[in-house]
Amino acid sequence: MGDNEFTKILGWPGYRVYRHEINEGTKSLRLWVRRKRGNRKLICSGCGRRFSDAHDSNEREVRDLPWGEYRTTVIIEVYRVCCPECGVRIEKVPQLPSKAPFSKRFEEAVGLACESASVRQVARQFGLAASTVRAIDLRYLERWSATRRRDPLLEMGVDEIYFGKQMKFITVVSNLETGEPLWFGQDRKQETLDEFFPDTTKRHTAETRDGSLRGHVAALHQQHYPVGAELSHYL
Ligand SMILES: [Zn+2]
Repeated sequence: MGDNEFTKILGWPGYRVYRHEINEGTKSLRLWVRRKRGNRKLICSGCGRRFSDAHDSNEREVRDLPWGEYRTTVIIEVYRVCCPECGVRIEKVPQLPSKAPFSKRFEEAVGLACESASVRQVARQFGLAASTVRAIDLRYLERWSATRRRDPLLEMGVDEIYFGKQMKFITVVSNLETGEPLWFGQDRKQETLDEFFPDTTKRHTAETRDGSLRGHVAALHQQHYPVGAELSHYL
């Protein structure tokens, strides 16, 4: 198998394998990759500015998804750019989401596994320390949170849930169309709901049908509801 085939199977857009090493004893595969011709635009990881010239280059070693029984390590050539805004900075590489020695899709596989198994099980499955799995999962969730689509808030529900003698009530604000809980607050006073608005108005004002959302909810919330009643209020 030539480097062309390795490049195809690796499937890192814009990168080609120029050297490989297979160790049958340790069941490990090492692939050296660099940019394909025509993929020369460098992006500053600090500000996103584009450059055609590199300041210098370096190699980074990351763990990628396994190839069959083989643990795969990719050694990637990365550049630094000399940015007028950020100074000498590493270029942005989509396959390298953080400084940790893992590729993006490897972190995604670990993060996904964490959704249905304990950290200890995932650690065993991937041969990683539990602390490493936790750190990967956290980055995975942060990336997910940063890129997920935020549904516009058109219909908002305010519920009170009775939590027993200690906690008494909590107030839950949810998006009625998606059923997604947006916020929880202790107690069920009007001031409780006020805490929801400072950060929400900024994010959602443009998405509400008129500017009176705050007034509506405050008025609704002033009424008192019987304990345990189903309390969804439509705007
Ligand atoms: Zn920059």
